[in-house]
Amino acid sequence: MAMSNNHTKRLNIKLLTKDELSAFCIEHGWPRFHADQLFQWLYQKGVNRFEVMTNLSKKMREYLQEHAYINRILPSQEQQSKDGTIKFLFQLNDHKDNDKIEAVLIPDFYPNGAVKRLTVCVSSQVGCVFGCQFCATGKMGFFRNLSHGEIVDQVQYINQVALEQYGKKITNIVYMGMGEPLHNYKAVTQSAAIISDPYSIDLSPKRITVSTVGLTKQIKKLADQQQPFNLAISLHAATDDKRDKIMPINSSMNLVELKQAVQYYYKATEQAITYEYLLFDEFNDSIEDADALASIVGWAPSKINIIMYNNVAGVALHRAREDRLNRFMKRLSMHKTRVTVRRSRGDDIDAGCGQLAIRKGARRGKSIA
Ligand code: SF4
Repeated sequence: MAMSNNHTKRLNIKLLTKDELSAFCIEHGWPRFHADQLFQWLYQKGVNRFEVMTNLSKKMREYLQEHAYINRILPSQEQQSKDGTIKFLFQLNDHKDNDKIEAVLIPDFYPNGAVKRLTVCVSSQVGCVFGCQFCATGKMGFFRNLSHGEIVDQVQYINQVALEQYGKKITNIVYMGMGEPLHNYKAVTQSAAIISDPYSIDLSPKRITVSTVGLTKQIKKLADQQQPFNLAISLHAATDDKRDKIMPINSSMNLVELKQAVQYYYKATEQAITYEYLLFDEFNDSIEDADALASIVGWAPSKINIIMYNNVAGVALHRAREDRLNRFMKRLSMHKTRVTVRRSRGDDIDAGCGQLAIRKGARRGKSIA
């Protein structure tokens, strides 16, 4: 069983999966249903003390208090935008310089002001190794993977905020915060399974989207394992030449390999793929770029989200101008592609992924760039 660094002799209970919690209970002679109850306390109620788990036997609680601990992360700072977006800076329990990660609650409203969607964007790693040119997190380098518990903590806390602020639980989750989710495959897939569990947040896997810069081996693994959530690919350029310039991953996994992985994924799962495409001014917003993007959509049933970039200090790429966006969209519509424009949110706060953590003193870690 996994032990923590700071609690050398005690078990970090949130490193166990649901199945491992069951095995743990059976191993100690406790009824199996106590595993579900324990799971519910940890991931639905978000408690951080065993003594409040009153439906567990006294003996079990006493054992857990002595031999285990609950690692729960909480925000140390929140920023709310005029558009309702809230960014949370979560403090990890590492007691190191780079021990902060970000998550965001993005509300969408109907014209009458009613809540349409409450999307949570979560982080999966502290920093990131992939060093994409446009990304604030990429500038930090990589420090460590988050555990599945640390990922679920972000969602669980923000779900509480949603309930308090809007009287409604969150409706969607996107793994598009700090880090490359499929580079932390195990914790990400386990956290998604926990989030969709009825004893946790009970969110349909169809409302969970995991994004990737295009890690082809892991895309095929998602397909082989029939993981039920949605797949989004952060494409951001539709030719190898341009993608090489802004995403170092493309030099080792290019568009030919990506095409093969996407087609493998679709064949195995029959799930449509979403492509995320940040539109940069005079870089990837020409008519030729739109044509190249439309041909990628032809690889398998897919849709495109065109995202208007939140400019990041020190990055030479900038948000495309409206006239160029309109021209690009018009060209895509000629190809009959399924496309949506996502306006940037939280412009008045440190909304670009990684910006807040960097401002709070993150230093440089490992990178492939
Ligand atoms: S865009 Fe994603 S993969 Fe690229 S550096 Fe940023 S966090 Fe990493």
